Amino acid sequence: MAETYRNIDDIKNLLKVVPDFPKPGIQFLDISPVLRTPGAFRVLIQELERSIDFEFDKVAAIESRGFLLGSALAYNYHKGLVLVRKKGKLPGQTVAHTYELEYGTDTLEMTEDAIKPGDRVLIVDDVLATGGTAQATQTLVEKVGGEVLGHRFFIEIAPLHGRERLKNNIHSLIIEGA
Ligand code: AMP
Repeated sequence: MAETYRNIDDIKNLLKVVPDFPKPGIQFLDISPVLRTPGAFRVLIQELERSIDFEFDKVAAIESRGFLLGSALAYNYHKGLVLVRKKGKLPGQTVAHTYELEYGTDTLEMTEDAIKPGDRVLIVDDVLATGGTAQATQTLVEKVGGEVLGHRFFIEIAPLHGRERLKNNIHSLIIEGA
């Protein structure tokens, strides 16, 4: 008989931890079994929706797994979807923000007019680790005059303290290593 998925506890066991991917020392949290299991992805999106306790105009979704969660939310709420991408992937005028990684730097970009001054923005990604990516996204949104009302993640790696780098209303469905 097919399994029934009702809440986050039901889908937690589907997550796969892949050691040393994409490089040694990283415990990669693979969400694809949740995406491909009938019913589980739906629960994930519904639980994210239940956690959203504010009004917003646009979802800023972070490449690439953030696109999957962000697009479902924007679609369901009838809101705008804005793609935040790695450097060089977006056409036209873009704004960029470069941030520090453990070794080196990375740059995220967003189309300059994707967010208008005063737009209320929800930032979405699959995993909150050090918080650098979400913080850079927050900076990009604010650069063009948007207001970040909250961040939503599927999983947060608590020992990395990513949330301390972010502003207001941060929620993750699963907290690892708390
Ligand atoms: P960070 O900037 O350190 O918070 O990293 C967050 C970004 O990197 C997100 O876009 C995640 O998809 C990805 N990421 C970081 N660590 C992991 C991990 N252990 N497993 C899966 N994705 C990760």
